[in-house]
Amino acid sequence: MLSNLAVRDIETLVHPYTNLATHRETGPLVLESGKGVFVTDSNGKEYIEGMAGLWCTSLGYSNQELVDTATEQMKKLPFTHIFGGRSHDPAIELAEKLKEIAPVPISKVFYGASGSDANDTQVKIVWYMNNALGRPQKKKIISRLKGYHGVTVASASLTGLPNNHIDFDLPLPGFLHTSSAHHYRFAEAGESEQDYSSRLAAELEEMILREGPDTVAAFIAEPVMGAGGAITPPEGYFEKINAVLAKYDILFIADEVITGFGRTGNMFGTTTYGMNADTISLAKQITSAYFPLSAVMMNDTVYQALVDQSRKIGTFGHGNTYAGHPVGCAIAIKTLEIYKRDKIVEHVRKVEPTFLRCLTALADHPLVGEARGVGLIGGVELVSNKASKAPFEAKKGVGAKSVLFAQEEGLITRAMGDRVAFCPPLIITEAEIEEMFSRYKRALDKTLNWVK
Ligand code: PLP
Repeated sequence: MLSNLAVRDIETLVHPYTNLATHRETGPLVLESGKGVFVTDSNGKEYIEGMAGLWCTSLGYSNQELVDTATEQMKKLPFTHIFGGRSHDPAIELAEKLKEIAPVPISKVFYGASGSDANDTQVKIVWYMNNALGRPQKKKIISRLKGYHGVTVASASLTGLPNNHIDFDLPLPGFLHTSSAHHYRFAEAGESEQDYSSRLAAELEEMILREGPDTVAAFIAEPVMGAGGAITPPEGYFEKINAVLAKYDILFIADEVITGFGRTGNMFGTTTYGMNADTISLAKQITSAYFPLSAVMMNDTVYQALVDQSRKIGTFGHGNTYAGHPVGCAIAIKTLEIYKRDKIVEHVRKVEPTFLRCLTALADHPLVGEARGVGLIGGVELVSNKASKAPFEAKKGVGAKSVLFAQEEGLITRAMGDRVAFCPPLIITEAEIEEMFSRYKRALDKTLNWVK
């Protein structure tokens, strides 16, 4: 029996990323409150939030300091914009702090409100910059199959997942997709991680040569693929990609919307994987998701091109109302302060061995083909035959079923096809990590019985 709230939900809401047809029968999971790494639903059932919401609530669900900071800023100045040269203290201070901790030399910061609009900005400034530099033909952007960069028209074009393209008439022309970097699924038999990475770098180079290097402007990648299935890159991958991009003067955009701020055991995934990024997209953990805020950090070459264009055109004609929202910036400053004071990156490194031990132990389960992660992010791939790596039939929905069983066991996680992700709040303790995985292990046992 659906609750009154569930019925009202069905009658009123269009849910993002939801099978809208089956939702009419199943109804929503309604969450009401949260504390630490736990959330509670409208029936009083408590769950470990194994996905930190959508890879974002790094400081958990009851951080009073963030609430107080938001309240104070709301009282002082709830809104002002930064168009036309206006400014405010929190926007300036946050930009200074981001520059200080940036993993590569960063000249300036541009704000937005979501990861998608940050990546839209990336696309637009790449085009704008190449016009400024007098090379208007250098405009194509390469991303990767299974990469996820958002849902706006340009960022969904960057995304390499079929459901973001089919019947949305995307990707737009000029957006190209090279292979994803997933050794378990796509390497040839006996191919080492390094050899696989070399093959992918060679494939990227072939694509660039085929298209014409003077037409290819940028390459974008997440350090760890998130929505593609929590996939960590193979050894040597980004080192080899760096070399190809440098050879053809192609801008490297790091999409750190998930990995930024400690997730991989360094402040940025760019550092973990040695990516020579020119610009970086940030969102989610920048405010521990207590407020929608995103940022594009850019190097000086990109910034100078924007200045030159302003001189020529009369303005930098881009930006949205909530860019640099004072409440979001104030929360982000406090979030960064807490990360530093509470040594959050050190904490991730300290608990990482427990996370990886519990995660990789799942590989002993008859359903699990791969279990791999870094820092506090990882994924398992469920397969019908471990020896041959044969997947289940997609329509069987085995991954999704395991997530439903996990929910019964008091764990929220997420299936992307038959890959299931773990990405808990960064404040999670070792005991909570053990508990999270034992709940998923019980969910897997139920899934095995169901699938037989
Ligand atoms: N980039 C990455 C790597 C993401 O994971 C996401 C969202 O999950 C986005 C971009 C899009 O961010 P948003 O949903 O805030 O638009």
